[in-house]
Amino acid sequence: MLALAVVLLAFAGLVYVLLARALYQQIDRTLLAGFEQLQHDDRLSRGREERLQYWIDELKEHENLFCIVYDQEGKVYQRTHELATESVLPPPVAATAEPRFYDVTVPILGRQRLLSVRVRLGDQEYPVLLMTSLVEVDRELRQVLVALVMAVPAVLVLSGGIGYFLARKALAPVDELRCRTENITAERLNQRLPILNPHDELGRLGQTINDMIGRLERSFTEIRRFTADASHELRTPLTAIRTEAEVALSKPLTLDDHQQLLGSILEECDRLTRLTGQLLTLARDDAGRVRQSQDHVDLTSLVQNVADTVRPLAEAKGLDFLLSAEESLHVLGDGAHLRQVFYNLLDNAIKYTPGKGKVEIRIWREPERVLVTVSDTGIGIAAEHLPRIFDRFYRVDGARTRAQGGTGLGLSIAQSIVVAHGGSIEMTSNLGHGTTCVVALPIKS
Ligand code: ADP
Repeated sequence: MLALAVVLLAFAGLVYVLLARALYQQIDRTLLAGFEQLQHDDRLSRGREERLQYWIDELKEHENLFCIVYDQEGKVYQRTHELATESVLPPPVAATAEPRFYDVTVPILGRQRLLSVRVRLGDQEYPVLLMTSLVEVDRELRQVLVALVMAVPAVLVLSGGIGYFLARKALAPVDELRCRTENITAERLNQRLPILNPHDELGRLGQTINDMIGRLERSFTEIRRFTADASHELRTPLTAIRTEAEVALSKPLTLDDHQQLLGSILEECDRLTRLTGQLLTLARDDAGRVRQSQDHVDLTSLVQNVADTVRPLAEAKGLDFLLSAEESLHVLGDGAHLRQVFYNLLDNAIKYTPGKGKVEIRIWREPERVLVTVSDTGIGIAAEHLPRIFDRFYRVDGARTRAQGGTGLGLSIAQSIVVAHGGSIEMTSNLGHGTTCVVALPIKS
């Protein structure tokens, strides 16, 4: 509105000024034409007085055009007879040979436009005044001014009203979108915004909000599932401990029974400790609070070290345990976290490979990365389970892996650590024949 008001005022001002100029120029041209009639009559210098009177009489053709010629003393020498005596002006003070225009208010006649000039007649020079009325011009200009003064606010009000109406109409869907978005709470994440036209800006905005709600819904579902799984996993060992304790209290026990009971309670406690530790790791990872150091890690010796730790487990099961490694392959990262990755992978390989099987570790380099493969000849994973193997709490065979102390968190922790190191982890498997896990990490040369 403000911008429009400024433009309209500037436009109105321009119209007024141009019109006033055009009207004044027209009047000046009339005055000049009257004067030029006198100037071009070269017979004037002869019968001066008669010809001057003749010229003045001829001016009558122009309505409202009056003329006064003064003599050397400043007295009126000749003039238009129709001019009332009260309207006769004193001679112009500084009349020059060049015509000059100006406005004055004359008694009886009102505002007049004057042309003053000095005319040579024979050997004498005479100041001459030509004047014509400005009343009509002033009236026209006043009318235009009134029209403009009324039109500018009217246009402003009208365009403001239309603008407001259009803006309301255009923004109503935005408000609608806002209301509907406000109604979508954590409990109603299955709702979506209606998209009227997917090709306009609002449609695209609605689509973007819908996509965001979709992502939120997936995250919420995942969090809920995670919480439910975590509670379930925590409850199982707790229930076991409780049952064991109840049994211990219900009847008198021998020393052997006591030791057995306390042993299994300790086992459940170990399980709980491992589980809470893993949950904490994942929760910190989700919150982005894992403090990961950026050390030069010799991956070869790190993996060799982990292999040495788990070798007794493999040997206890009668597995072939092989390691082939290129020397000193370095990566940038957190040694303790990377240890956990390979511990989890080797622990799985040993856990899920029956006796007389083989677990093999290979470390080698490619131009940009270090590759570590952990392969076994174990039970393998069916193709339909492979895509979900890195999901939290996902276990191919729940009862069996739980019995083996598995929580279903090992691979997801390994994945989040590898990804945080800028690497990748992949699992391939052949059911009944074995599994291979490939970890790739960016090399630090
Ligand atoms: P868990 O602690 O139960 O081992 P993981 O996340 O490490 O959890 O593994 C998820 C599931 O993937 C396991 O329960 C198991 O069924 C399957 N799995 C992982 N590694 C292997 C393997 N090397 N061979 C066969 N199955 C495996």
